[in-house]
Amino acid sequence: MKQYMDAIVKAEAGVGLELRQVPVPVPKAGEVLIKIHKTAICGTDVHIYNWDPWAVDHIKPPMTIGHEYVGEIAQLGEGVTDFHIGQRVSGEGHITCGHCRNCHNGNIQWCKDTQGVGVDRDGAFAEYVCIPAKNVILIDESLPEEVVAFFDAFGNATHTALMWDLVGEDVLITGAGPIGIMAAGVCKFAGARRVVITDLNDYRLDLARKMGVDAAVNTGREDLAAVMKDLHIIEGFDVGLEMSGNGHAFNQMLSVMRTGGKISLLGLGNKPVPVDMNYIIGKGLTLQGIYGRKMDNWHQMSYMVQGGLDMSPVITHRFHYTDFQKGFDAMNSGMSGKVVLDWSK
Ligand code: NAD
Ligand code: ZN
Repeated sequence: MKQYMDAIVKAEAGVGLELRQVPVPVPKAGEVLIKIHKTAICGTDVHIYNWDPWAVDHIKPPMTIGHEYVGEIAQLGEGVTDFHIGQRVSGEGHITCGHCRNCHNGNIQWCKDTQGVGVDRDGAFAEYVCIPAKNVILIDESLPEEVVAFFDAFGNATHTALMWDLVGEDVLITGAGPIGIMAAGVCKFAGARRVVITDLNDYRLDLARKMGVDAAVNTGREDLAAVMKDLHIIEGFDVGLEMSGNGHAFNQMLSVMRTGGKISLLGLGNKPVPVDMNYIIGKGLTLQGIYGRKMDNWHQMSYMVQGGLDMSPVITHRFHYTDFQKGFDAMNSGMSGKVVLDWSK
């Protein structure tokens, strides 16, 4: 095993990232060392790149970033017996305490002491990453690596979408970012009748069309009510998935929900949002906040892809890791879906 490796590092407080040599991590007892094959850039990585207020509050440079990846087991720490070297894996990015109330009731995504890979500890934009064995997810050889590279984000989409029954339901997704587009694919696959997605960005709406939505609506200039009429959505949407973090989008969603409708909220805004409570109360809406993913979502994603769900339309850019700057430029331009980085030498 070599001692130093390439890594994409937040070297100091400020905008940008650096490719530099750092020590290869050594797995402690109960940990696994993973050799990275492919990674994908998440919105969180872009926050860290841009050094926005969230990043200033959460990130302590210098550190290796990144948490969306696929690779193979390279080394086992002491006491790890249930894996072997060479197995293809990804990893749940939230490292949980294992003994708080939510860890005990199976809702590990709500652990009170969660630590994020590539946020609170060194991440996966490197030749190797080290994580606890309990976070390792075995990946079947039949699954395409460039899609598994972003299973972490696909997991957010899966968790948000599969919160509610979808068979025969009409679904509104606000925000056609990568996660909204992936959620649209999940909803169609899971049997929704109509899936309508909104955004203000035509590039992203076009990408959503490739994922098979029934309508991709630019609410900056198009009338959502007219689209609903065309699609015979008479009483309103049964299910809403809020994936923009934008207050206007959320209030528009509330206004077009059916009475008794269900909403899951994933989008994180950067400021408090005024909400018309009359819609929530008068329509008896159910709202569910979504954080991260459930461990079972990893299984659901594998099985959906094996069952024919094609997530590849959301990939718009592929680069070698040494060209990571181009990947971040694409993400910052708004003209991108998922950006996948290849770590082969
Ligand atoms: P993204 O920022 O790429 O996508 C958000 C989309 O919303 C953009 O395409 C934007 O143009 C669109 N938008 C902005 N205003 C809009 C409006 N008024 N109407 C409709 N669309 C509008 O983000 P992403 O990576 O796809 O993630 C989706 C959201 O989920 C983000 O807010 C992200 O921060 C959040 N997120 C939350 C969790 C969690 O655990 N809760 C995890 C991952 C991401
Ligand atoms: Zn816990």
